[in-house]
Order: sequence, then structure tokens, then C-alpha cells
Amino acid sequence: MTDSQASARVRYVLVRTSHPGNIGSAARAIRTMGFDRLDLVTPHRYPDPEADALAAGAPGVLEAARVHDDLPSALSGCSLAFGLSARRRGVTLPELTPEQAAEQAWQAAREGREVALVFGNEQSGLANEELAHCHAMVRIPSVEDYSSLNLAQAVQVVAYEMRLASLQGAAPELPEPKDPPADLAQMEQFFTHLSQALHDIDFHKGRSPRTIELRLRKLFLRAEPDQRELRILHGILAEAQRVQRRAQGEG
Ligand code: SAH
Repeated sequence: MTDSQASARVRYVLVRTSHPGNIGSAARAIRTMGFDRLDLVTPHRYPDPEADALAAGAPGVLEAARVHDDLPSALSGCSLAFGLSARRRGVTLPELTPEQAAEQAWQAAREGREVALVFGNEQSGLANEELAHCHAMVRIPSVEDYSSLNLAQAVQVVAYEMRLASLQGAAPELPEPKDPPADLAQMEQFFTHLSQALHDIDFHKGRSPRTIELRLRKLFLRAEPDQRELRILHGILAEAQRVQRRAQGEG
């Protein structure tokens, strides 16, 4: 895996961006650091001359940027996603520094995995449901009483850390992993199956499933199961559902 192949596996995802100028500035920011993959989730105004002006011609980035209807579509094929947030949220995701996130993200890309770095809207940041798709939250350690950077500047900080990670000594070539980690779409399928199975076996006993489901999401995202492991988990759930159906039939 060469470094340029690895950088092509890293996508910068901008969610619900309000100002097209920020999209252009983000394109320039990532291009200066050796990246060119920008994915946009329902930008308020795009394409737009302001985006073009601030991209300052960053070769190819805006031309190739893809626009998506929702975050899962922007994350398709990814098996690792980090969400950038200025604030600590109610969600109990692990929190990484930009440096730690960049090291992990770069390493994953070198192993052949698709990686996403996800940035929120200028006013509201990332919604909790959006962060729930991510393996960890990344906070740029700004001061507590004025913590929010301009979106494109946050992208620049992260792209710079990614660049540093990529420059850190030429690590030996890594073999392709044998069992590829499940991508986020496969994880979503599993979460749907899990919540259906928990419902079928009446695990929640009338309580709201929400907190348990968020905790289970966190657990399984942290475990980063590969595709074979996920098939085993699906098999267990299907078996529990089958036993439950049979018991109901008998009861
Ligand atoms: N008021 C919003 C800030 C939005 S700034 C909030 O509190 O979340 C736009 C985006 O830039 C954020 O969603 C985040 O992705 C990124 N960003 C800005 N400052 C950041 C910081 N200190 N750490 C991590 N990400 C940051």
C-alpha cells in the first residue's frame, strides 16, 4: 500500500454546511496536506461561486466532491469514522486528540480500510445521531470559554495532523488484512437486526430501548468486528429469534 493509495482512502465529510465559502476553504485545506476527497452531506448552497473562489483552484477537489442525502451514504464503504466536535456531548464516545485520531486513521488507511473524518454544521455542529455513526469523537483542545473554530480551520488542523502522521517514518509495507473489518453499512444492518432481536425476545420489558441501544452501538463499534465475526453475531441473533418464535408457537 503506497501513501497515495492510503490518502485516497481518507475522506473528509462536511455535514449540512451553511457557508459555501467554508466548502472551498476546506477543499484547499485538505489539498495542501495531500488529500483530495471531500464528501458533502446536504450542503445549504452548493455548487456556489464562493466555494470556487475560496478553493483557490485546489486541483480537482471540488470537481470530484460528492454530494449525499444523508451521513450513512457519505460513509458508505467506511469501516472507521471519527466525528469532530468542539463540545463534549452527552454521548459517551471515546474522545481522541487530533494527533491520536490522525495516527489511528492513517494506520487504518494504510491497512486498506476506508476512513472518514466528519465535521458538523457551523452553527449546530454534529447532531448526536450523527456522532452515533462514529467510532470516536475528536476535540481540538481549544479554550473552554470559546471553543469553536471556524469549520475550514478545524479541517485544516485535522488535515495537518494527518499529514504529520503520513510523514512519520516510512513504516514497512503492511499486508492486506485477511478478514476485512465490517463497513459502517454492515454495522447498521447488524444494529437493526440486534434491535429487532431484542424486541422479539422482549429484552426491554416495556422500558425504552434507546439507552441500551446506544450503549450496544458503542460496544460493537469499539470492537470493530470483521465480516466473519459479524456473520456469527447475526447467526446468534437469528437463532434467538427462532427459539423465541418456536416458544411462542408452543405457548
Ligand atoms: N457550535 C458548534 C460548532 C460548530 S463549528 C458546536 O458547538 O459543535 C463547525 C465544525 O467545526 C464542528 O461541527 C466541528 O466538526 C469543527 N470544530 C470546530 N471547533 C472544533 C474543536 N475545537 N474541536 C473539534 N472540532 C471542531
